[in-house]
Amino acid sequence: MCRPIDVVFESDLVDKRNMRGGARYRVNQIAIQADAPPAVGMPYDHQVETYFHEVVHWIFNLLEREDLNEDEKLIEQMGKLLAQAALTARYE
Ligand SMILES: [Zn+2]
Repeated sequence: MCRPIDVVFESDLVDKRNMRGGARYRVNQIAIQADAPPAVGMPYDHQVETYFHEVVHWIFNLLEREDLNEDEKLIEQMGKLLAQAALTARYE
């Protein structure tokens, strides 16, 4: 259950697949839309939100909760909240 997940940035997810990210369970990979020309691009905070969105998909997949894994509204909200927590956390 603790296999590493590779995170890759790809320039054509939005253009070719109309996706900001993707969870590729079989190859332990999360793909995120890159923010570099000539791609459509995605700002860093949106990349972080997308990353956590895909992480939530990953968790529900591992828990075999397809009922929750198909609830894009729930996953989007959880992804944004997790991203907000990560982006605003302060450590001393
Ligand atoms: Zn999704």
